[in-house]
Amino acid sequence: MAKILKSKPSEIVILRDQLAQKSEEKEELESELFIARRELAFQLEEREKRANELDIANEELVFQDLEKEKRAEELGIAKIELAYQDIEKEKRATELDIANIELHFQKNEKKMRATELSIAKRELDFQNEEKEKREEVNKKLKANNNQIKLVSQYARSLLEASRDPLFVINSEGKITDLNNASVKITHLTREKLIGSEFIDYFTEPDKAREGYQEVFDRGFVEDFPLTIKDGKLTPALFNGAVYKDDNGKVLGAMVIARIITQQKRFENELTEARIFAELATEIAEVAKSKAESATRLAEDAVKAKQQFLSNMSHEIRTPMNAIIGFTKVLLKTELTEKQEEYLNAIKISGDALIVLINDILDLAKVDAGKMTFEQTPFRMEVSISAMLHLFETKIQEKNLKLIKEYDEKIPETLVGDPVRLHQIILNLVSNAVKFTQKGKITVSLKMLEEDEDKVKIEFAISDTGIGIPESKINNIFENFQQATSGTSRIYGGTGLGLAIVKQLVEPQGGTIKVKSKEGEGSTFSFTLKFQKTKWDSKIEAEIPEINTEFKNIKVLVVEDIRLNQLLMKTLLDDFGFEREVASNGLIAIEKLKEKPFDIVLMDLQMPEMNGFEATDYIRKVMLSNIPIIALTADVTTMDLAKCKEVGMDDYIAKPVDEKILFNKIVSLVRKPNSEYTKESSLIKSEVEELIKYIDLTSLSHRTKSNPSLMAEMISLYLEQTPPLILAMKKGLEEQDWNLLYSATHKMIPSFSIVGLSIDF
Ligand code: ADP
Repeated sequence: MAKILKSKPSEIVILRDQLAQKSEEKEELESELFIARRELAFQLEEREKRANELDIANEELVFQDLEKEKRAEELGIAKIELAYQDIEKEKRATELDIANIELHFQKNEKKMRATELSIAKRELDFQNEEKEKREEVNKKLKANNNQIKLVSQYARSLLEASRDPLFVINSEGKITDLNNASVKITHLTREKLIGSEFIDYFTEPDKAREGYQEVFDRGFVEDFPLTIKDGKLTPALFNGAVYKDDNGKVLGAMVIARIITQQKRFENELTEARIFAELATEIAEVAKSKAESATRLAEDAVKAKQQFLSNMSHEIRTPMNAIIGFTKVLLKTELTEKQEEYLNAIKISGDALIVLINDILDLAKVDAGKMTFEQTPFRMEVSISAMLHLFETKIQEKNLKLIKEYDEKIPETLVGDPVRLHQIILNLVSNAVKFTQKGKITVSLKMLEEDEDKVKIEFAISDTGIGIPESKINNIFENFQQATSGTSRIYGGTGLGLAIVKQLVEPQGGTIKVKSKEGEGSTFSFTLKFQKTKWDSKIEAEIPEINTEFKNIKVLVVEDIRLNQLLMKTLLDDFGFEREVASNGLIAIEKLKEKPFDIVLMDLQMPEMNGFEATDYIRKVMLSNIPIIALTADVTTMDLAKCKEVGMDDYIAKPVDEKILFNKIVSLVRKPNSEYTKESSLIKSEVEELIKYIDLTSLSHRTKSNPSLMAEMISLYLEQTPPLILAMKKGLEEQDWNLLYSATHKMIPSFSIVGLSIDF
């Protein structure tokens, strides 16, 4: 205790020092706290350190409290001591006061510490708040970053979603972004591509520049064609658009290349296909023109063949006709029996040869498809009778009977092809005669159908001859088919006749069939349709008897072949006609100019000027209506058409049948102004109307039936009348009664020429 009392001042000093030290420490702490406060804003660790320091300070305070308690204890001891020492008591009281002051100070200090602590705590709270705020901001930032990341990922996947190359370019034309397809196609890395010139990757950079400039100018581009320089030269169509910021400022453009290799391939394939098609068409056209030229060639060949056949038959037939003609002439003269026999043999051989030549010629025509059919009016019964007449001698010779069954219902005049009908019947009747040794031959005509315009007639030729074996009957209508191999040897023939008959019937819409029994006979029947007509063909078909009143007919024979000239002369002399011969067309024209003729017999093939040319001249230049009959060795349809075209009135086939020749000459000469025209049936029906009003009896009487005089007068009438009628019309229209009177007056006498009476 003494020790303590003794050491009291020093202890106070120490305490004071300690206090001073404490105050310093406090200041330090304050400054540290201050620093800590400032540092706490940036460094949490620092704050923790300060907190630790505060803890230490607290511990210190606790320690100080303990010390205080110790002091209190010591004060208690001192109080006891005070009881003993009053003097000491005051001192002690002073010390106590001091101690109290110290305590107070300590309390203040404690308070201050507590305040500091609360400030530090607030600071800590603030720091914590700040930290939380920062963490919040960080979180938001992080979330934002994630959002940005997501958006950029989204954009990237959008870029990559395109399998077509995609480029993002800036307004300078530099690539700023691209997708993998672009990397793939350019074979360059992303790094190399970014920042490079967009136009560098195309075969036509200038065009590429145009393309991206168009995007920036217009805001978009559509299907801009470019070729990518990728080794394969990939064709592409570019589509793109600009992209802008919030203020509408253009930041760049995004262009996508649509690879059109496939389309191009299709296009190319299409073009190729088109080219191929065009080529094929060209080839087809070439083939067509070849085919056409082949057809032309074939047609030419057919024409040449026909011409050849015509020429040949002409060449063969001319001497043959002369042989037959002269044989006939000779046969009319006084002959010994032997001579007549030989001459008949010559004639029969000649006839056979002519038939053969005609058959071959007809067949050639059928082959060439050149068989055409006339439509002329003719009298059926007369025509059939005339033809059967030709067989009379032969039938008599074989002691056969010829029976003609004619259906009276058949109209007298019909329109059809009488020449072809003759040919058909001639063939069938000649077969019937040829293959029949005894019995009869029946030719029957039956009308099967009739309507307003046409009739259908069935012609049947039956015989009681050898018949045809059943096995052969089906082939009988084919070329060169005969019933037996011996037929030709025994009966002659070529097996062409029936083939020709079939070809003459079927194209006219008819049918032909055969019924036959070996040893009993055959019936060949065919049907044909004919047009009905009102025209009465009597005038033409009438067969005047030779050597009647037609003596003074002047005939000009135009024929170059001496033999034919001679034959014609003989025939015409026989008819009692006057005749003159011209050996070609030119001479004929001269002769016609020199003196009048009634009719011309015109051969077709002649030197200098042929028959067609001569007729053309007579009709067109000489304006003559003189009847002209063509003499033709070959009745080809071609020639017939030409004959009509140049204005010939009729034709006669060689060898000339003298009866036909006579009839044709007489009927043409007798028919005044009988112009044979192309539209014969039409004109003829008009003529028919006219005939009703025309009576030539008085003219014939006055001219003593001189045909040329009659013709001259009629043509005068025809010439004069139309202008007179015109004058009459004019007089009526203009009420010029004088004109009407004089025209009518002039016309009356001319009416008497054609027998027009006032009664009509
Ligand atoms: P061709 O009489 O020239 O031999 P066709 O074509 O006219 O040729 O006749 C062919 C064949 O048909 C004849 O050869 C003959 O065998 C047979 N034939 C034709 N008509 C008769 C008929 N009326 N009677 C018997 N046989 C016939």
